Amino acid sequence: METTEVDVAVIGAGPAGSRLARRTADGGRRVLLLEKRSRVGYPVRCAEAVGPRSEVERYLDLDDSIVCSPIDGVLIVAPNGRTLRSRTPGVGLVVDRERFDLRLAEHAVAAGVELRTGHQAMRLLVEKGRVAGLVVRDLGAGRDYEVRARVTAGADGVEALSPQWAKLKGPFRPEEVFSCAQELVEGIDVGERMIEFHLGREIAPGGYAWVFPKGDRLANVGVGIDPLLAGGQTAASFLEVFLSRRCPDAARMRRIVGGCAVARGLSSLATDGYLVVGEAGHQNNPFSGGGIVNALEGADMAADAILAAGPGAATAKALAGYTRRWKRTVGASNERFWLAARIFYALDDDEADAIIGRVASFPGVFHRGGVRPALMVAAIVIARPALLARLARLCRRRPRR
Ligand SMILES: Cc1cc2nc3c(=O)[nH]c(=O)nc-3n(C[C@H](O)[C@H](O)[C@H](O)COP(=O)(O)OP(=O)(O)OC[C@H]3O[C@@H](n4cnc5c(N)ncnc54)[C@H](O)[C@@H]3O)c2cc1C
Repeated sequence: METTEVDVAVIGAGPAGSRLARRTADGGRRVLLLEKRSRVGYPVRCAEAVGPRSEVERYLDLDDSIVCSPIDGVLIVAPNGRTLRSRTPGVGLVVDRERFDLRLAEHAVAAGVELRTGHQAMRLLVEKGRVAGLVVRDLGAGRDYEVRARVTAGADGVEALSPQWAKLKGPFRPEEVFSCAQELVEGIDVGERMIEFHLGREIAPGGYAWVFPKGDRLANVGVGIDPLLAGGQTAASFLEVFLSRRCPDAARMRRIVGGCAVARGLSSLATDGYLVVGEAGHQNNPFSGGGIVNALEGADMAADAILAAGPGAATAKALAGYTRRWKRTVGASNERFWLAARIFYALDDDEADAIIGRVASFPGVFHRGGVRPALMVAAIVIARPALLARLARLCRRRPRR
């Protein structure tokens, strides 16, 4: 079998993979970035919202071709229809995700990364207990070849198989993935440029429906649900109901469906010769499902660990600092979001109605950078002290393998 030799092989050219590839190439490594789709960033399966501009620009300079709309606040609609507004100009942006991903990949290529689209990772090469590279299929030519790499990085997203091949985790369980459906609509009133979250078992069991403004009278309107609470109905059927309530006269332009991980963090993100990053590594926010900026943050931490491991083969020990750093920082915040999600999405509508106002008005829960998860958990438990026992049980559960 034909063989390619590199320092770093990256599976998947989403935000995590492209950023990791760029950073390791900047550090002097020979990097191969593999993407099974024929076009980076397409098709888009995302509602395209990110946090404040300054946060995103730590990773990518944004111009008008990438930014669709600034977001100036958050509107929460409780199951009983009561609305809560938090006006916070600059709290976020809705971006053009296809251009966003493409730009990240272009930066990687400019840094010296070799990008191969239409090339799919098929399995890892494991030698003497360590990952030594992978087997790749050139989907156009229909032939397989080997890539030998000092480090293989799994940035293969929600459909990831590579962390399973590396024995870092099992498949996502149904309740660990929001089942989503979304329509891009035109002719919707998004007057104040607030992102909207609509809650309730009828609207989105175990999740929420959203309206994310993309421009003048244009928005991504979607639904993410826990499939185990949906009584056999699909996300698409909940979306139909939501569209007919929220914007019955809007024109429908583009439908997408897909899964979005809301899983608890992994106990380890690396093994000998392999690490996992982004949604594949359970790095999404487990409350909202948002994963773009987390993927970029994870990629930087993973790249730092690869570079610190030196030019030789990267052992699990050398890469372990990546897991530790993630768990100390974003992972710690994600753990609190996971607790909040486990408690919040299990509430019935009456309980949610009673709690939402208290949570939203709890000092400090909402701030310019988004939501503070520890305060959110505290607010929920103070509003319903009976939930304390549930919180204690959740805290005792071991992290996911
Ligand atoms: C409906 C929906 C709405 C969302 N809305 C938001 C939002 O508003 N804001 C937000 O922050 N997040 C949102 N997310 C989540 C966000 O899209 C992901 O968390 C983010 O894309 C994760 O980035 P990533 O680089 O880890 O993975 P991805 O962007 O999924 O990239 C993984 C890449 O790996 C490729 N790949 C997979 N397997 C292989 C293989 N074997 N070989 C080669 N390539 C492979 C895939 O084709 C893909 O291009 C949403 C998700 C969904 C489904």
